[in-house]
Amino acid sequence: MKFNPENYRIPDIPMQPFIDASEIWDIIEKTDSTPEKVSEIIQKSLSKQRLSMDEVAILVNATDEVSIQAIKEGAKTLKNQVYGNRIVLFAPLYIGNKCQNNCSYCGFRVTNKDAERKTLDDAEIIKEIEALEENGQKRLVLVYGEHNDYSPEYIAHTVKIAYSVKKDKGEIRRVNINAAPMDIEGFKVVKEAGIGTYQIFQETYHPEAYKLYHLGGKKANFENRLTSLDRAQEAGLDDVGIGVLFGLYDWRYEVLALIRHTNHLEACYNVGPHTISFPRIKDASSLSVGSKYFVSDADFTKLVAILRLAVPYTGMILTAREPAELRDEIIQYGVSQIDGGTKIEIGSYAKTLNEAQNLNRGQFKINDERSLNEIINELLDKDMIPSFCTACYRLGRTGEHFMEFSVPGFIKKYCTPNATLTLAEYLTDYADAETAVKGWKLIDKTIGEMDNENLKKSLIDRVERVKAGERDLNY
Ligand code: SAM
Ligand code: SF4
Repeated sequence: MKFNPENYRIPDIPMQPFIDASEIWDIIEKTDSTPEKVSEIIQKSLSKQRLSMDEVAILVNATDEVSIQAIKEGAKTLKNQVYGNRIVLFAPLYIGNKCQNNCSYCGFRVTNKDAERKTLDDAEIIKEIEALEENGQKRLVLVYGEHNDYSPEYIAHTVKIAYSVKKDKGEIRRVNINAAPMDIEGFKVVKEAGIGTYQIFQETYHPEAYKLYHLGGKKANFENRLTSLDRAQEAGLDDVGIGVLFGLYDWRYEVLALIRHTNHLEACYNVGPHTISFPRIKDASSLSVGSKYFVSDADFTKLVAILRLAVPYTGMILTAREPAELRDEIIQYGVSQIDGGTKIEIGSYAKTLNEAQNLNRGQFKINDERSLNEIINELLDKDMIPSFCTACYRLGRTGEHFMEFSVPGFIKKYCTPNATLTLAEYLTDYADAETAVKGWKLIDKTIGEMDNENLKKSLIDRVERVKAGERDLNY
């Protein structure tokens, strides 16, 4: 790991931070965009090269229809080249909503007296995991408020519970976390518990805007949050996810800042973020955010496509905050992971009754309430392979090492066969009859199209072994 102390900033020690708002605005303002320039940049991206900040600025400044169409088409082509037709599925699991911060966009904020506070006890966590496994989930992101109760040791404890629960043929094979920043020792503790990705969203990369929304608690410290991933890297945690809460500040600035953060991580540690998330503000109990920077569907679609072009090899996550129709549309412009069957009220997976959402029990409103089976069924209609693959992380293909593998050929060799095997498991263990028929048809088609005869033979053999009851056969 290449560590560059120049780029590492411990909170409260003055040093040049890697996000400089005026630099980012200069880049945006000095750039003008023409359809010709946009087209050249898309060609560069299609040759799978990362884009520079200046090039991304040209894309964010494009407003003519020809350029916007070209950006979307380019992102679609690139996505198919890099990720094939598979889409990775996961579910969020909220462990506790106690919080000592006062973020004006969040239903969990400390000042929200209407919030119904709850932390799952161990037995309740087990029940939630069992319910998730009964639906066929294999990958989770555990989510926590920021509270003294949710120490790194506590988080590690909950992660270990998640891995230990095995209901029938079910098991959770990858546990990511979305939790408050930690110190280096804390990151070591959660790493040792075996977490996959550590996700943390900067919310807004604009320091002044940040102050307006973060009104109290530890999260009010912009730098502490911004440097958290440097501390994670120091602790040896190299699988990290970044994000912006779109709607807090100008989306064009935030897109460039995400690229700047990616560049920083790559320059210092030789490994960029594994994923980028782009939540948009949704309704929440006690929400108090003006609408000045809210992002329209059209701009949101465009920004997802731009991110895809800017960082061809970074995973991109689109959550159930967005409505089904928009998710279906946007997936094609570069998304690699979505959640399915999502419930965000604490303890709601184990409930048998499907109650209407209650904003006082959740962090915000979700707008895609489709079950996992419905989502899988609809993905299959579009010839997309739903994947629960966790092979890379479990076989050590992460971080710097993973980047070496992210070259052409990787998808054919690993991702498509692994997606096929995890889909075969889902179809055997959990799918309804209609989904199963569609799924086996797509598996046959996928195998039929493989050009490596040895791999094809081996995959046919493994699919048969899955049908016969073997599980977790990875490449
Ligand atoms: N408490 C931890 C923290 O703040 O880092 C965990 C994160 S929170 C449970 C997950 C993310 O949800 C936040 O980082 C934020 O981006 C997003 N979020 C918060 N309020 C939201 C809202 N009203 N609509 C959409 N997303 C929201
Ligand atoms: Fe707490 Fe996170 Fe919500 Fe802020 S976003 S109030 S830190 S749960």
